[in-house]
Amino acid sequence: MKGTTRFGVLVADKRAEVHSHEIPEIMADEVLMHNVACNICTFDYQQWLGLRPQQPYPQAFGHEDAGMIVAVGPEVENLKTGDHVVPNIYYPCLQCRNCQNGLNMRLCENKIEPVHNKDKYGYYGPYGCSQYKIIKAKHVIKVDKNVPLEAICFVEPVSTAIHGLRKIRIKANEKVLVIGIGSMGLLNAQLAQYYGADVIISELMEKKIEVAKKMGFKKIINPHEGRFEEQLKEYTGGNGPSAIIIAVGVTQAYEQAFSVGPEMCRFLIFAANFPAPKWNIDPNLVHYRLWEIYGTIGSALSDYREAVDIISSGALNFEDIIEARYPLDKVQMAFEHAAKPGSYRVNVTIPD
Ligand SMILES: [Zn+2]
Ligand SMILES: [Zn+2]
Repeated sequence: MKGTTRFGVLVADKRAEVHSHEIPEIMADEVLMHNVACNICTFDYQQWLGLRPQQPYPQAFGHEDAGMIVAVGPEVENLKTGDHVVPNIYYPCLQCRNCQNGLNMRLCENKIEPVHNKDKYGYYGPYGCSQYKIIKAKHVIKVDKNVPLEAICFVEPVSTAIHGLRKIRIKANEKVLVIGIGSMGLLNAQLAQYYGADVIISELMEKKIEVAKKMGFKKIINPHEGRFEEQLKEYTGGNGPSAIIIAVGVTQAYEQAFSVGPEMCRFLIFAANFPAPKWNIDPNLVHYRLWEIYGTIGSALSDYREAVDIISSGALNFEDIIEARYPLDKVQMAFEHAAKPGSYRVNVTIPD
């Protein structure tokens, strides 16, 4: 395809711009995607804020994108022009031992990392916030055309929440405490509920509490009100939660979680923060209370597939997680908004 592609790019701390270059030629095993939207993830706005020096500039950012195929290479089977697709942003080789064992795709022995690799145009990054982008056919998943592409932008974050919930073996009817309901906390809470758990939320910010209420969550505790342990007892019938998801990277959240975990509690550490939060856990507590503490990031291919299926079923609410939409031309404003503390996902809409 001839022409140029315009894309969002982080050029320096606090500076996002729209750049363009020619639409690259596709290779035999690649497809050309025309994106319609891309979310700004924590990963992106933390770079914009200058908190991720390990991610170089200029960064053609964006990994929560979705769109349709506009061209396919001659060796591509099972995909055609017009298909709606979501990229698998972990780019697994699908052939190494870890890929074949179905492990977390971050463990692929041959994984491609566009964030750290400069392309021939001089840009790093996966080009999610781009009109056109080239991707290997094996790295896209076809989605049903009836599903809004804006919802499909959430496949990657939803897949990571599924991965974590699998690790802590969430079951129907058990009490699950979610601490912190930013975008990822809310996705964890929604998914835990989808799997049948009885979800209790702990959140300090009034704005977020309102969003959770709007989404139908009833058991919400604001620890500022000073009755955290009492309310938690009430909501769990006195037994405490059998699993706790810590979805915010602050020391107080860890302290809160480890102060209320009953025997056999499974903890999921979902969030990161820079600089890293401190935590002081008494190892004797872990020992005597038979605690299980899990860390999680990323997802396996099966989680990606499940994320596509759950989103396609319409079971998750994204309307209240999308805080605002900005056209590509306003990408700098989109970052200013996304980086404000307490913001939910900001979505960049990409023109034809
Ligand atoms: Zn993301
Ligand atoms: Zn691999």
